[in-house]
Amino acid sequence: MDRRKFLKNSALLVPAISAGEIYELRKTLPIRDVFNVHPIVISTWDFGIAANKDAWQVLSHGGLAIDAVEKGVRTPEADIRIQTIGKGGFPDRDGHVSLDACIMDHLGNCGSVAALEGITHAISVARMVMDKTPHVMLVGEGAQQFARENGFELENLLTPESEKAWKEWLKEKKYKPIINIENKTFAAERLPGNQYNHDTIGMLALDAHGNLGGACTTSGMAFKMRGRVGDSPIIGAGLYIDNEVGGATATGVGEEVIRNVGSFLVVELMRQGRSPEEACREAVERIIHKKPETAKDIQVGFLALNKKGEYGAYALQKGFSYAVCNTEKQDLLINGKCVY
Ligand code: ASP
Repeated sequence: MDRRKFLKNSALLVPAISAGEIYELRKTLPIRDVFNVHPIVISTWDFGIAANKDAWQVLSHGGLAIDAVEKGVRTPEADIRIQTIGKGGFPDRDGHVSLDACIMDHLGNCGSVAALEGITHAISVARMVMDKTPHVMLVGEGAQQFARENGFELENLLTPESEKAWKEWLKEKKYKPIINIENKTFAAERLPGNQYNHDTIGMLALDAHGNLGGACTTSGMAFKMRGRVGDSPIIGAGLYIDNEVGGATATGVGEEVIRNVGSFLVVELMRQGRSPEEACREAVERIIHKKPETAKDIQVGFLALNKKGEYGAYALQKGFSYAVCNTEKQDLLINGKCVY
């Protein structure tokens, strides 16, 4: 009997096999054989392409969404050319690189770290908070202590390039973070070396078992106040997964995302019947409605994936890109939809 027939027949024999056994069996199967689910992974910004590729290695072998998203976002965390995530991130105004990250699975389990210093893979520390503690969030020194006790090595995350940018910034020390700089000309006018000063990776995946997972990791806004925490490690703000409905993640000015509990809002709007793009748009419009003056000068973007594998995004400003990867494509979508 070929595998397809075997699976069809075994579906008829459900009472003879425990749910756990079926689950284990499904994990070993090639994608699409059992559920006709089309796995997909999407993530924010251009660096999402490389991250999706690594997440896809997990998804395409029938792996779990939660494992895929952890693996995927570790890629930009380790890439020191990306100065807004992980090692090589821009430091805070006092010269410390501090990372925020969170992760959430299809069962509603989640883990998070905020203001974590000296550890490249903040996402894996967040995963460990989820897997090994009764808590959701660890911050600062406590998060670092937990990471070290669990085998993470301390590293200097400040690269010469990011240190140079920080020293340039120190000359004027303008605290007001400038965040709407996807437009590179705009960025060039304000930051040394044409660099951008933010951009989180938020990643959402649907696996072959029909389950969702999400991850979000960042060094936050460049030259932020010491101790500032953005939306990215906050469940419901930077990331939210509800396995009955879908998942959402955010990038941009974290303060506005937190104020509106952005990712949770997007998921709830999908629950009410909005498409992923409509839900993202409505969440962006909520931000504008509450603070129209602030909204003009900032960027916020949402990305969403529903249970059916449909995806969409919306941003306040032009320039928001996101990467999509499934069996058919590996695309980067730029300037999807924006309000201003
Ligand atoms: N949301 C991040 C923060 O506020 C920054 C970003 O995604 O651009 O820390």
